[in-house]
Amino acid sequence: MGARRYIVGVTGGIGSGKSTVANLFATLGVALIDTDAIAHALTAPEGSAIGAIRSRLGKEFIGHDGALDRAATRNRVFADSNVKSKLEAILHPLIREEVDSALRADAVLHAPYAMLVVPLLFESLTYRGRVDETLLVDCPVAMQLERVNLRSGLNADETARIIASQLPRAVRLQLANEVIWNGDTTAALWPQIEPLHLHYVQNAGNVR
Ligand code: ADP
Repeated sequence: MGARRYIVGVTGGIGSGKSTVANLFATLGVALIDTDAIAHALTAPEGSAIGAIRSRLGKEFIGHDGALDRAATRNRVFADSNVKSKLEAILHPLIREEVDSALRADAVLHAPYAMLVVPLLFESLTYRGRVDETLLVDCPVAMQLERVNLRSGLNADETARIIASQLPRAVRLQLANEVIWNGDTTAALWPQIEPLHLHYVQNAGNVR
């Protein structure tokens, strides 16, 4: 029988700072599994989802570099929910497999606990049922828009569409076990992270 892994699910709207926060926890020795990063790797040139996307959705979804053409795909997904379902049918099982194998890795077994970053954690029964606690990274919508624009150059309309497709902030705030406020500088994150880390280490110790 394998050791029990304690899993904290991290979520938050696009641009709220999930990756930023999770990477800070990782510096404390927490095992980090980021479903966004996994999806990115699967759809990079030579990624294991590329063949299925090309054959089931069409070569127009693949850019010249051999990666998923993200801008084109975003537009098609918004225009046609069928495309969204087909893409999810390809990606979701592959992401789940990668998460499962990451959770079995030695690094995770030896870490005090694992942190699983899932943007749509509260929307997904699969992942909600797998995590022991949920941590929400929260900031005002205006800040999400600004950060996403600075990070990826998505325009405000595109980001607003993505935000509208995610659960409203007020609902996420009600569902989360803990909340990190990321409406200030990144320096303001540490004083919130340290006590939470101790809390998770203690809870993880109780279930092992
Ligand atoms: P998410 O993973 O939730 O989409 P990220 O962690 O990638 O969000 O953050 C989105 C962008 O905002 C990144 O470019 C990140 O560097 C920046 N960012 C995150 N938190 C802050 C903050 N407190 N102050 C300034 N920029 C931030």
